[in-house]
Formats: sequence, structure tokens, C-alpha cells
Amino acid sequence: MAARKKRVSKPKSVKVGVQDIDIVYSGEYSDAIVTYEPMVQGKLVPELKVIHVYEHNNEDMTKNTILHETMHAIDQFMNTGLSEEQILQLTNGLILVGRNNKDFFKYIFCMEE
Ligand SMILES: [Zn+2]
Repeated sequence: MAARKKRVSKPKSVKVGVQDIDIVYSGEYSDAIVTYEPMVQGKLVPELKVIHVYEHNNEDMTKNTILHETMHAIDQFMNTGLSEEQILQLTNGLILVGRNNKDFFKYIFCMEE
């Protein structure tokens, strides 16, 4: 029987530079998203150091949202001033490259097997 791969659970936080940013998902407390911006998939609230993520039935979209909001956090931390469109496209590009180059990312980030 083939060994089942261990599934990595959804991140509860992400460290960006010196900041620890909490990640909360819809169903936990996402009133801020749902109430004020119904079309928004996620939101970085830098002053609270929190990323709100609306969870999709499509897990890939949830993952994209997590990375997208993290890219906003990186943008703020690095003071690059990227546009929404640049964040969107860089996120999509990073996911595209990441999915097709697992060994590359293991090497770059020194991930253990
Ligand atoms: Zn955005």
C-alpha cells in the first residue's frame, strides 16, 4: 500500500519580517469582510496584524487568497508600493511557478523532505 502523504494544515499565521500576522478564516470571524466588502476574498488589516480570508469551496482559491494577502503584507513591509494588479499577477505567477517546480522551492527555502 502506498504511503499517504501528510496533509499540511491551513496556516494560522505568517511571519513577514519581524511581524507575526494572524490568519483568520470565514466561519471563525470574518464579519469585517462580509459586512463591509462583500466582493472581497480576503483582507490584510496591517494595524491589527491580521489577514482575513474568505474560505472557498475551491481550496485553490483559498490558497491564492492567503498568498495574495501575504504579498500585500510583504509589499508593505518592503515598502515597494505595488499596485493591486501587480500583487494579483505576481501572486498568480508565484503559484504557477511553485506548482511546477517543487524541488526548486525546496532548494531555495531549504525545505526538508
Ligand atoms: Zn489585493
